[in-house]
Amino acid sequence: MNWAELNSIQNYLHIHPELSFQEFKTSQFIEQTLKRWDIVFHRFKNLSTGGWAEIGSGKKVYAFRADIDALPISESKEHSVVSAKDNIMHACGHDYHTTIGLGLLKYFSENPEMLKGKLRVIFQPGEEAAPGGAEKVVQENIWHNVKGILTVHVKPQTETGKFLLYHGPVQASSTSIQIKLSGPGGHTSKPSETVDLIQVAGQFIVQIQAYLNQRKDPRDSIAFAFGSIHGGSTHNIIPDQILLRGTLRTLDNQVLESCLKLIRDFSQTFARLYRIEAEVQFPTNCPATINDPDLSRKFEDFMLKSGRDKDLLKPAKPSMGADDFAFYLQKVPGLYLLVGGGGKGHLHSANLELDPGLIKPTVQTMAAFISSLLNTNV
Ligand SMILES: [Zn+2]
Ligand SMILES: [Zn+2]
Repeated sequence: MNWAELNSIQNYLHIHPELSFQEFKTSQFIEQTLKRWDIVFHRFKNLSTGGWAEIGSGKKVYAFRADIDALPISESKEHSVVSAKDNIMHACGHDYHTTIGLGLLKYFSENPEMLKGKLRVIFQPGEEAAPGGAEKVVQENIWHNVKGILTVHVKPQTETGKFLLYHGPVQASSTSIQIKLSGPGGHTSKPSETVDLIQVAGQFIVQIQAYLNQRKDPRDSIAFAFGSIHGGSTHNIIPDQILLRGTLRTLDNQVLESCLKLIRDFSQTFARLYRIEAEVQFPTNCPATINDPDLSRKFEDFMLKSGRDKDLLKPAKPSMGADDFAFYLQKVPGLYLLVGGGGKGHLHSANLELDPGLIKPTVQTMAAFISSLLNTNV
């Protein structure tokens, strides 16, 4: 394997980031790179960017998701490799994910005897958007014979070469919530003759938290918070509309469903009591990413049996962030691993700088794991 070539691929991607669903040049670059290696890149039918490629033969297929989009952030100019675009940066490490996806295809093209089946790599656009690209990719006709899907996400603070494995939930669900409260409006001199909607909205915000906390199972984790509140125009008019927007996050898709019902129920009961109307909408929804128990056990076994136990970390708590990888898990079993990024800064920040040395151990370990999955007879 020419690891320097993969490093220069990551460099190119890092210097030329593109935002969600605008990854035209990135897709072209992936296509050209694969062409150089005699691997065919297929475009998606339902999306203008991204695509997929596969290697190997036979009926059994494992998929690998590599997300390819960047974020609207201006990168710190102190980094050794800096984005050429002022306001766009690979601040979530998707340049590394794309490189790893390409690296796996290259690895198996050089070592075909390692692959007793097929590896299908999905170069997914728009992971950072809501709704994201995965919702469209699951509708593509690429899922026949897929036994499972794998992905990795970089974790900057963890040492290069380490793999973080979660049995069960790894990323939370994220549902955006929009609640429109409407009343008759009126003069602030006569709140008793109308509904004082600002005061009522204050009650609503306090009471909905208490209601959710009281009604949900205390063993279930949720994060529920409003991020925006809009209403009113001046000091002496009681507004007739207030818009609240927030997110709900859970680590279990059944808990998510029951919380969404609680939010609807509470809003209707509250509206009746305070003589207002409440319109509840959930504009976007990403389920929780929950690792398949069989795949996570197989990964743990693989790490132990291949002498990589020192590189396996089992963190106690999952993240309350979300990843649209969850949509694939509604289709096929999957495994979402975090890999050490050996870097500085944080994801989604201008200071993020990862260790290019993470590419080699990630490609080697994932290739060996995929090979072991395809070599078993189940
Ligand atoms: Zn991100
Ligand atoms: Zn990401």
